[in-house]
Amino acid sequence: MSEKFDLPFESNLVPKMLDLGSRLKFRCYRGISCYNACCKKADITLTPYDVIRLKDRLGKSSSEFLRDHTVPFRMDKDGLPGVKLMTDDEGVCNFMNEAGCSVYSDRPTACRYYPLGHMSMLSTGAKSDETHYFLVHEEHCKGHAEELEQSIAEYLKSQETAQYDEMNREWMQLMLKRRSMGPTVGRPPEATLQLFFMASYDLERFRRFVLSENFRNSYQLDDSTYEVLAKEDLSLMQFGVRFMRQAFFGERTIEEQTGAWERRVEQRKEVWEARRQAEISRHQQAEDEKYKDA
Ligand code: SF4
Ligand code: SF4
Repeated sequence: MSEKFDLPFESNLVPKMLDLGSRLKFRCYRGISCYNACCKKADITLTPYDVIRLKDRLGKSSSEFLRDHTVPFRMDKDGLPGVKLMTDDEGVCNFMNEAGCSVYSDRPTACRYYPLGHMSMLSTGAKSDETHYFLVHEEHCKGHAEELEQSIAEYLKSQETAQYDEMNREWMQLMLKRRSMGPTVGRPPEATLQLFFMASYDLERFRRFVLSENFRNSYQLDDSTYEVLAKEDLSLMQFGVRFMRQAFFGERTIEEQTGAWERRVEQRKEVWEARRQAEISRHQQAEDEKYKDA
């Protein structure tokens, strides 16, 4: 299964765009000659909601899930970190067994969409994005030779994508905004990229960060918000998107404590000074080495 959906940024494909009313001739069922062939060539990018569904299904923490079932990759040329489902050396998905998908009712968004890909686009001057679909036609997939024909809307309903679309929407919009702003936003510092990884996928770690004293000293949130974020993964996931919009684009939707910005600048000054001193002493050491035997 080559990548089943396209996050809205890097793609070399120039696909034929389809909409919800477009017709799709396709059927997949247990017993078809290619049954499971797609899961033996799995290239599945996960969304934050996919991670929540799968980690809960397996009764693992997000860190355990990421460690045991995913591989990291860079989603764009700025090095934005993403995660894919882990496969074996031949590309067989971790979750595939003789009977099929062992996590079927919690399978990721990309698996639900196949053989469709989808991408969101923001037309010039448009206020909101539009979703377009395209067909992924792979040699090993015999479902295209079946007679069943239905609209894309009907197909997606049968795959129960609605909940996933709803939960993925804000995160996808964050990606789209980064893409549409192009080089104007520049490459984020490594620390911001790591923050993005944590806020997107490693929710338990992000929760510790949000509940830390440092965070409370920097941002003004009321106690009831902290209570919700301490307990609810979905609320924390949505808060993560807000937080990253603030980090990437400077949107001020989370109020900062008075003087927090100045304190951060002061702290950074100390770090920069320490780095400068370390650089000077490294340089001096190298010079001493050069002339030691002269
Ligand atoms: S998660 Fe399930 S449906 Fe998706 S590739 Fe793996 S085995 Fe196949
Ligand atoms: S028809 Fe396509 S999607 Fe269905 S099992 Fe075969 S390869 Fe996979």
